[in-house]
Amino acid sequence: MNIETKLGLDAFILDKETHIVVNQEICKECEAKYCLYVCPGRRYSVNQETGEMALEFGGCLECGTCMIACVDGALDWNYPRGGFGVQYRFG
Ligand code: SF4
Ligand code: SF4
Repeated sequence: MNIETKLGLDAFILDKETHIVVNQEICKECEAKYCLYVCPGRRYSVNQETGEMALEFGGCLECGTCMIACVDGALDWNYPRGGFGVQYRFG
């Protein structure tokens, strides 16, 4: 079983509000866009209409990689509220 298959078996309990807030003003000036490449859940993408950095927080694996990679400090990163977020099936 490959990593994508294992991750696909994880379950998520979705909150209504995001637990990671993206500062678009900082992202606008960012050329590297590390978040696009480091997220194992591929949660980041560029909105083709607005050019803003989009985050689909629902499938977040809560690994914290994006927070470390975003050296410009654009992310206000928190764990989801109690009772919400990822439920791992394979550790
Ligand atoms: S979240 Fe961080 S790495 Fe991603 S575009 Fe914004 S400033 Fe750049
Ligand atoms: S915490 Fe991990 S899975 Fe969640 S958005 Fe950041 S890099 Fe992606």
